[in-house]
Amino acid sequence: MTVGDDGPTDAAGAPLAADTITCIDCGGIAHLLTRPDDTGRHWPGDLVVYRCEDCLDRWDLIVPEEGDADGRADW
Ligand SMILES: [Zn+2]
Repeated sequence: MTVGDDGPTDAAGAPLAADTITCIDCGGIAHLLTRPDDTGRHWPGDLVVYRCEDCLDRWDLIVPEEGDADGRADW
């Protein structure tokens, strides 16, 4: 219960960058390579890198701005 007021969190307080994503090419699991900062999480605008365990493809993603998805959920 220590959600700080100095940084963004989503509604669940989860990190904005998932540990794994689904590989767009092969449907395998791509694992996060980028280490989080001192807060243990990634921040909007950060570049995060994933590598697929199946096809070894690399995926560079930018962490989305907070609320970009959740804030517009009702339209
Ligand atoms: Zn893949």
